Amino acid sequence: MKKRNFIPLLAAALLLTGCGTNSSSGSQSVSYSRDIFAMDTYMSIRSYGGSESALDAAEKRIHDLEAELSVTVPESDISRINSGSGKPVEVSSDTLTIVKKAIETGALTDGALDITAYPLVKEWGFTTGNYNIPSAERISELLPCVDYRKISISGSTVALSADQQIDLGALAKGYTGDEVIAALRENGADAAVISLGGNVQTFGHKPDGSPWKVAVRDPFSPEKDMCTVEIGEKAVITSGNYERCFTGEDGKSYWHIIDPADGFPADNGIVSATIIGDRGIDCDALSTAMFVKGLDGAAGLWRADRTYDMILITDDARILYTEGLEGTFTNMSDMPAEVIRVD
Ligand code: AMP
Ligand code: MG
Repeated sequence: MKKRNFIPLLAAALLLTGCGTNSSSGSQSVSYSRDIFAMDTYMSIRSYGGSESALDAAEKRIHDLEAELSVTVPESDISRINSGSGKPVEVSSDTLTIVKKAIETGALTDGALDITAYPLVKEWGFTTGNYNIPSAERISELLPCVDYRKISISGSTVALSADQQIDLGALAKGYTGDEVIAALRENGADAAVISLGGNVQTFGHKPDGSPWKVAVRDPFSPEKDMCTVEIGEKAVITSGNYERCFTGEDGKSYWHIIDPADGFPADNGIVSATIIGDRGIDCDALSTAMFVKGLDGAAGLWRADRTYDMILITDDARILYTEGLEGTFTNMSDMPAEVIRVD
């Protein structure tokens, strides 16, 4: 499923930079690029200035984080939490940071983001790709386990209720993006653009001084771009119904973002939610939550905060973007675009 997405993503990243690998005309314009497969997704990194060792540090950070955070790696923090039978489990500071953010966003979004939805994600087969429509009985058996408020953190330990399991798929890539940028910066890069499975993050300035231009995919034709935005140092993170999806024997489409309210793929009118903000972890957590919330809920959350911008696509093919993007948003699709305003 992810493999399909690689070519457009890479194309988008190249469109952003327009610069060759290891070109050498002045330190800021020397660029290095690397493609990595990790966290079950294709990633591309392009850095400017410094040396190749910044990419080595970034790549190592990605693999180390995958070993800590992956729900399918048996020794990861997450697997150990999930098999903890309700007892506190000692975890890394990365895991602690992400679990805390997940609880905080769960509270902010009234449970739209809930990392304890994992037993349902697993039951639908979204973790393994062995897709299956669970019976109504099975869903009602699993739903009572879903409640992020039962996660307890004490010192550097995390404990769940004995019947609970978590996965950090909704926000781990955003955190990883933040850490990749930090590793590049600390290891001498002057600027970078990274794409972790379509989530783009930037730091510094493009060598020609122009803003980074980031394309967002059309959820109705994921091989095409739908719009572009021009950004400074930002994360641009999308949750879409075209990723990890399948068509059931009933002919209906099912996708990997679960509505914790009913245990089914979230179907509240949004087919793609993009969040543009300063930190990858925040944008990633919110992109998943906004997808679940639907248009009114998402607009309400944005109006109460406005430290980020968002682009929502509705299931009846309308684009809605927040007013902070006016002037930098370019519609490349046939869909009508409206602005979400504060009032
Ligand atoms: P994203 O692509 O960032 O929206 O993350 C989606 C992933 O998060 C899924 O593949 C699941 O692993 C997990 N997930 C699905 N639904 C939820 C939810 N409501 N809250 C938290 N995590 C979820
Ligand atoms: Mg997310």
